[in-house]
Order: sequence, then C-alpha cells, then structure tokens
Amino acid sequence: MTSTPPPPISEPDPSTFTASSSHVGPCSGCQRPTHKYGSGGLPLCQWCLAAARDNWGPAVRFTSTRTQGGDGRTR
Ligand SMILES: [Zn+2]
Repeated sequence: MTSTPPPPISEPDPSTFTASSSHVGPCSGCQRPTHKYGSGGLPLCQWCLAAARDNWGPAVRFTSTRTQGGDGRTR
C-alpha cells in the first residue's frame, strides 16, 4: 500500500467538507483546516492522523485507562 503524500496545507482536510464551519479548526500537526470535534482537543487531519497511528498504534484515540501490559500491539 503506497502512501499518498499530503497535499499542501492550503488544501483543507476532506473531512471539513461535511463538517459545519464551527467544527473546522487548524490541525494540531500541520495547521491545515480540518474537522475538529469540539472546542477543546487537538484535531488532526487525516494525514497527521495516519502518521500518528503509525507512531502510536491503532489505539491512539483511546488512551489507556487500563494497562494491558503490552507495548500497544494487540494481535
Ligand atoms: Zn495535519
């Protein structure tokens, strides 16, 4: 699976197309307009989110309230 290089940050994340303007904010990674899920938090565009998933594993959005004694890899 080849990874598509992200477009220039002047291009908004596709998720903004279906989001109301009040739910669009700068990506916390690259500052491109992206869909955010509330007034707080750190929104990530799909490209930064993909990179974050690569770094942190698939459970990135669900930070550990319980530790499973692993390194994040469940299989
Ligand atoms: Zn980004």
